[in-house]
Amino acid sequence: MGTGFEVADRFADGSQFIGGRPRPGTSGRYQEVVDPATGARVHRYETAGTDDVDAAVAAARAAYPGWAGATPAERSGLLHRFAGVLDARAADLAYAESLQCGKPVKLSSGFDVPGTIDNTAFFAGAARRLEGTAAAEYSGDHTSCVRREPLGVVGSVAPWNYPLQMAAWKILPAIAAGNTVVLKPAEITPLTSLMFAQAATDAGIPDGVVNIVAGTGPDAGEHLVGHPDVRMISFTGSTDVGRRVAALAGPTVKRLHLELGGKAPFLVFDDADLDAAVHGAVAAALINTGQDCTAATRAYVQRPLYDAFVSGVAGLMETVRLGDPFDPATDLGPLVSHRHRDRVAGFVERARAYATVVTGGEAPGGDLADGAYYRPTLITDAAQDSEAVRAEIFGPVLVVLPFDTDDEGIRLANDTPYGLAASAWSRGLYRANRATREIRAGCVWINDHIPIVSEMPHGGYRASGYGKDMSSYSFEEYTQVKHVMYDNTAVARKDWHRTVFGDR
Ligand code: NAD
Repeated sequence: MGTGFEVADRFADGSQFIGGRPRPGTSGRYQEVVDPATGARVHRYETAGTDDVDAAVAAARAAYPGWAGATPAERSGLLHRFAGVLDARAADLAYAESLQCGKPVKLSSGFDVPGTIDNTAFFAGAARRLEGTAAAEYSGDHTSCVRREPLGVVGSVAPWNYPLQMAAWKILPAIAAGNTVVLKPAEITPLTSLMFAQAATDAGIPDGVVNIVAGTGPDAGEHLVGHPDVRMISFTGSTDVGRRVAALAGPTVKRLHLELGGKAPFLVFDDADLDAAVHGAVAAALINTGQDCTAATRAYVQRPLYDAFVSGVAGLMETVRLGDPFDPATDLGPLVSHRHRDRVAGFVERARAYATVVTGGEAPGGDLADGAYYRPTLITDAAQDSEAVRAEIFGPVLVVLPFDTDDEGIRLANDTPYGLAASAWSRGLYRANRATREIRAGCVWINDHIPIVSEMPHGGYRASGYGKDMSSYSFEEYTQVKHVMYDNTAVARKDWHRTVFGDR
């Protein structure tokens, strides 16, 4: 797999990317990047402090007039070149993503990296197609048209589960629309965001259009969110931190885009293809070791299929191969960190008091004992109001509950504060269609769960946030719409002046 490289050499000039070049942080505080498959340190860097955030925002501000003033064709051309540079570096990007996250290389080279390249190519095209209402004489006496304008400097904050894709989802629509960006990646996984920004520069995107400040949330993150020169915050992460971000962005009246947590239901009706549902549930619960905001986490299975579904899922989970992320045969890598593995294990240990752990529920020993591994875990007999059913565990853990009527299934699917994604499994058109109407989530799959495409929006309802990533809908987030109205009468005394001057 890939080329592999020495991380310390690659990032020798520093792990911040400001004004088109790498440089060290100046916070005086240091952060380690750890390979969660082994526990070995792969990098140590000085994090971004408030001065670094200020410098990045200043670089983005300086770059803004030129970038916003470029034609859509010019921005599009550079984004096409950017996609080409990323493509040429695909192996390096997949290597770094697997190293810092523990992702199986099957996933990083088959999903994270090609998805990012496809997104870049999509936004290269979309940059030339900003939509709005047609110009027309809506009042009769005026011509109205809409200008769709960028906002200015966008501050983005991203999580560690898909560092490269999250950087892409935040940066690409923003810069395609003419904004400039300062992105703060999660401090434990900064490597591929830095490589992404370097690739943008190498493709010819002007210095300062894409900046990365690698640092902690309370330090670099909060300073960025509150910064008076940042016009918008685009945040992906947990609902709790999203609330804090919203509060911090309030005083400066920033536009907010929040992609928050999820607890996706997986609703299996009794006319579903059982084999498809079983395979779908295992894949959708375990993708990225369950660290996916849209992962299947709560399966509700109509009573006639319940027993067969539970035994099918348990049996299939036991065949999943845990191992070295760089072994192409590995299905499941470690969790992102030992700390997060212990958090996931805590949910399962507490569940033993009120539910049944059918399979998994432990960290493997032997060769994998030093890594942050956790076995695929299936839980049954949990009550709807229990922690395992309601909280975002963010690990390879699936809870299965039975239901009787269709009404009950849909009610249970909607019964958490979240609303990011959901799936319904049925061979019946009307049943499936009802699920798409009545499940309150930003994405509902029918007879599948997880696939995404660059052309379609991703974003939540309710406590999963608001705003859309990917697709042309994301331009709603990263542009502001201006109404321009031209008088067509060329007379000094307009008809509407009667409202002020009467008949005079
Ligand atoms: P997190 O909320 O802990 O952190 C997300 C980012 O916010 C990180 O960069 C972190 O450093 C930063 N941060 C933390 N405190 C901050 C503060 N006070 N001010 C500013 N920034 C701060 O989330 P995580 O653990 O990195 O990621 C997992 C979470 O992300 C899960 O809840 C998952 O559902 C969510 N997620 C959502 C989506 C989506 O599209 N809705 C996608 C991926 C992940």
